[in-house]
Amino acid sequence: MSKFLSDRLSELKAYKPGEQPRDEKFIKLNTNESPYPPSKGVIEAINSTEVEDLRLYSDPTCKDLRSVLAEYLEVKFNNIICGNGSDEILSFIYIAFCDKQTGVCYPEITYGFYPVLSNLYGIEAMEIPLKSDFSINADDYCNVGRTIIIANPNAPTGICLSLDEIEKIIKTNSRNIVVIDEAYVDFGGVSAIELIKKYENLIVVQTFSKSRSLAGGRLGFAVANERIIEDLETVRNSINPYNVNRLTLVAGKASIENQSYYDSNCHRIILIRKSTVDMLKKLGFEITDSKANFIFVRHNKISGSAIYEQLKQRGILVRHFDKPSINDYVRITIGTEEEMAKLVIELKELLT
Ligand SMILES: *Cc1c(COP(=O)(O)O)cnc(C)c1O
Repeated sequence: MSKFLSDRLSELKAYKPGEQPRDEKFIKLNTNESPYPPSKGVIEAINSTEVEDLRLYSDPTCKDLRSVLAEYLEVKFNNIICGNGSDEILSFIYIAFCDKQTGVCYPEITYGFYPVLSNLYGIEAMEIPLKSDFSINADDYCNVGRTIIIANPNAPTGICLSLDEIEKIIKTNSRNIVVIDEAYVDFGGVSAIELIKKYENLIVVQTFSKSRSLAGGRLGFAVANERIIEDLETVRNSINPYNVNRLTLVAGKASIENQSYYDSNCHRIILIRKSTVDMLKKLGFEITDSKANFIFVRHNKISGSAIYEQLKQRGILVRHFDKPSINDYVRITIGTEEEMAKLVIELKELLT
């Protein structure tokens, strides 16, 4: 730390991304990327004309992308804002809708970026424990009088709340914003997007990083009523009006136009998730009911950190969280059939 760092930030603990090794010697099951490449349409969209046009700024309104997204999601153009990853959208939401008086609220076990943002923006956070089976008790979130953020499916458990439970939370917090982070919704969840027509306090956040194979393109978006989007646009235009680059804009648009390719990838991942769960259960693993492109597992014969370390020695990266309540667990991204077969072989070996 330099002597110049603002006092406000002296205690800041930044988000720790999962390992991103530069070489390819690992089977990478640690950051929930897609094992499949972007669609042909996406690859063709990033052509030399687009690259030459990089001398020009990108469209600050993301018009073409928002138009195809609006049609696909059956909402209006003005119900959508795009961001440089959904992490940026979350940041805009914190700036626009979280203040010191009301504070925020989210599950005690959830996406690690929420506490980082609370810290960065100086927002007091209430962290609500999960039930013993790691599910969220929706009643805990009724009438809390704070900005609420819920990942649905939750991370790193993969467990979903039903749309009815989500609606109850939105309805009982009508004076506050409720953010539903649907990063993993395409792998078996149900989106709350249709509820934006009924509730003015709802923001649904989604990303192209997981189900759309564009983690490196950095693209996320939020859907909400147009006054909310207007506020978020004001924040966005005050920080970075060209926040989505030209190549990502055309890639994102092409990805929506190639919907059936992504639907079939998600379908494949759901099937591989199911077969992986079946195989690991036979090896004695306990596994949460994940509706995401990862599974969250533990074994009573070996600690979470040992699974992580020993898989790494065997060339497989998974994610371990150094947090007492989930110390025994590792989170494993669903990869290809071949990658998961290798994982199962290695796990079987290290258990004997
Ligand atoms: C991956 C993830 C995000 C962030 O994705 P971006 O790459 O920034 O779009 C947001 N929320 C959750 C719960 C995630 O797992």
